Amino acid sequence: MVDDNVQAKLAALREQYRLRLTHDLQTLLAQARELSTHDQGIDPASLETLRQGLHRNAGSAGTFGYAKLGQEMRELELWLQAAMESDIAPTTSMLTAMYHRLEEILRELLETPDAAVTEARNSHELASGERAVSVAVLAEEEVSDHLIRSLKGFGYTCHKLSPSAEDSSMEAADAVIVDAARIDESQWKATLEKMPSAMLILLSDDGGFDARLHAVRHGAQGFFIHPVDVPSLERGLRHLINLPQQDPYRALIVDDDVELAEHFRLTLKSAGIESRVINEPRAALQVLRDFVPDLVLIDINMPGCSGPELARIIRFDDDWLKIPLIYLSAESNARRQAQALAQAGDDFLVKPITDVSLIAAVTARAQRSRQLSLALARDGLTGLIKHPAIKELIEIELARSLRTQSSACVVMIDIDRFKSINDTYGHATGDYVIRLLANLLRQRLRRVDHIGRYGGEEFVAILPACSLIQARDVVERIRQNFARLDCVAGAQTFHTSFSAGISCTDDWGDADGLLEAADRAMYEAKQNGRDQVCLAHSPQSPKTGEA
Ligand code: GH3
Ligand code: MG
Ligand code: MG
Repeated sequence: MVDDNVQAKLAALREQYRLRLTHDLQTLLAQARELSTHDQGIDPASLETLRQGLHRNAGSAGTFGYAKLGQEMRELELWLQAAMESDIAPTTSMLTAMYHRLEEILRELLETPDAAVTEARNSHELASGERAVSVAVLAEEEVSDHLIRSLKGFGYTCHKLSPSAEDSSMEAADAVIVDAARIDESQWKATLEKMPSAMLILLSDDGGFDARLHAVRHGAQGFFIHPVDVPSLERGLRHLINLPQQDPYRALIVDDDVELAEHFRLTLKSAGIESRVINEPRAALQVLRDFVPDLVLIDINMPGCSGPELARIIRFDDDWLKIPLIYLSAESNARRQAQALAQAGDDFLVKPITDVSLIAAVTARAQRSRQLSLALARDGLTGLIKHPAIKELIEIELARSLRTQSSACVVMIDIDRFKSINDTYGHATGDYVIRLLANLLRQRLRRVDHIGRYGGEEFVAILPACSLIQARDVVERIRQNFARLDCVAGAQTFHTSFSAGISCTDDWGDADGLLEAADRAMYEAKQNGRDQVCLAHSPQSPKTGEA
């Protein structure tokens, strides 16, 4: 759904653009007339001014619904450019012809009613809210039971489907998991027809290319091989159903064309993408630091500093090596595009660009950029934040809690007798348990919370805007949940537990103090018999220390 407010702003912007285009065309007309009346020696600077005016509007007109006018100005621009690059100066008769073309363009604009400005609009369904996600499983008894038991532990609503029965619950399912290795293809296809909106996840015995191709051709969005690794399956489900867990994508737009940049910003906003606009390339470095975008859209032709120059400046800095720099420019000349890309920058989008293409292009690149930066900052096994980044986050949250006068808590979690899991069931099962807990934490904590893998089977969570008592309640519920969760190793099912310690910014004023206090509380929990949550005592409180 596109926000009505955004629509109104876009409409106002189109109106504003129409006025600007009219004004610009009148200026261009005056410039062309001036040039065409010069008998001797045409000033190259005046030609360049004319070319820039054409260029600016050729790039933006299409975006505001004046595609044909934009195209015509583009042709004039290219023609002028070719003339300027050759040795033969444009003659006054050529400039007179240009003047007449511009006059026609202006007349066309004035004759085009604003209502004729129509644009493709996009509909963006919002991601599903915080409701329980419903998953249907179509598999043989044993596999369904195992999957359903495991997924229920993560809070999913699960239904077992039988290939023949009519089941009314299936229509509501967000995803359907089909064991293509055991269920007859015609049977599962018949079932799928009754649930056209559900995401399809196929399970297979065969991980070869052909099996994957077959799955893709049947519309599968996820593919897993037996024996199914439940944490991966759960992560896949979460990605597919797009559970809210991510901040909106952020784009930085650098374009000296104020209206066009604003149009891009509003268009992206209608798709839930946040953007910051700067019309002056000089501001880019500061905004990169403050806004931390997922990608940058850069115009090529800007006064003072060109797009490729800005791209190179951004690339000087190691911090911005991985951010995609996308040129969004009216430059349609393939050679000059290649030249720009050879200097710096990753890709080229040509103006005018439709709203749908802009949103699609930005979303795809932002998504990829997020995936990459997550992969770099995150632990490979669990996808959680790595150790070095955690302390920094504690410092950030500590500062925020001081600023907002709210409490934040640090939670240290360690799996109980983990060594014996490794010894009894093997290292791979140990890994599986680590991921199980990682997923559970991710699922049970809020989006604003940070979850890190501190060491082998140790985790740290940072809970902003949370009192010690609230943190205890949350972690206590997770502890109970984890202790009940079925861990599966081959044919065996076992249970495990964790111990946790919690400290609060009310009691400690620095990151090290918070971490150490949470760690001490966690050891107290271990000493008290494990499978429990202990709170770090305030240093001021008379009830200090364990000894
Ligand atoms: P306690 O209840 O006191 O915490 O006992 P514990 O056995 O959990 O604690 P300890 O720290 O003695 O053992 C942790 C073990 O975790 C030791 C190490 O071999 C294992 N480990 C560390 N990292 C990994 C990992 O990534 N995967 C697996 N499978 N094991 C790991
Ligand atoms: Mg342990
Ligand atoms: Mg440990």
